[in-house]
Amino acid sequence: MSTPAYKRVLLKLSGEALMGGDAFGINRATILRMTEEIHGVVSLGVQLAVVIGGGNIFRGVAPGAQGMDRATADYMGMLATVMNGLALQDALKNHGVDTRVQSALNIDQVVERYIRPKALRYLEEGKVVVFAAGTGNPFFTTDTAAALRGAEIGAEMVLKATKVDGIYSADPNKDPNATRYSRISFDEAIVRRLEVMDATAFALCRDQKLPIKVFSINKPGALRRVVCGEDEGTLVQV
Ligand code: UDP
Repeated sequence: MSTPAYKRVLLKLSGEALMGGDAFGINRATILRMTEEIHGVVSLGVQLAVVIGGGNIFRGVAPGAQGMDRATADYMGMLATVMNGLALQDALKNHGVDTRVQSALNIDQVVERYIRPKALRYLEEGKVVVFAAGTGNPFFTTDTAAALRGAEIGAEMVLKATKVDGIYSADPNKDPNATRYSRISFDEAIVRRLEVMDATAFALCRDQKLPIKVFSINKPGALRRVVCGEDEGTLVQV
């Protein structure tokens, strides 16, 4: 039985993580696999909040939105994250994981609004809290929402789920000598121009001394190994 190294973490799941091999939308098998991973860490007693992206459904700066007013397109992007949040809640419920979705935009008939003390209470009760609608503001990203909510709820770490199992010295698909950093400082990541999260999110985590773990969501068991403090992915810290 693994022992968790963290009590409360925030997982950033991009919309693309839900697509699986599909070109867009939510892939059923993929979301089910993700819920299994989440179930695994929640059953260890880890308090888990999730910030969900929306890129699989709509991205404010995507070609389809070209010519649109940026703020309008961004609100559409935020609504897409609400859809993903509901899909994730539904899948988690089917897995027996009690989940609440809180939205940064008020859509009261659909989903409860973000109220920090309530979110904290849910986490203490062992419920998964999915934060949808990003920060609620256009011109931001769900990466920034992850840093923001992570800091707000006192998460010990932001877990950035990606397609690659960490940060490499070079593109591992192009350079056979590329090596994975096990841990790296925020300053070193800047010097080496490593794109960990977008600049706003990165700056917020750095200011708040909130470590970021970059890992692959496609690697079975990786989420559990991360919350158990094992050498998985790349840890970015002060
Ligand atoms: N978005 C926004 N404000 C936020 C978060 C998201 O306007 O605080 C919009 C933005 O248009 C973005 C879209 O929602 O392109 C989807 O979010 P994101 O691209 O971060 O999703 P991901 O890449 O993680 O799937």
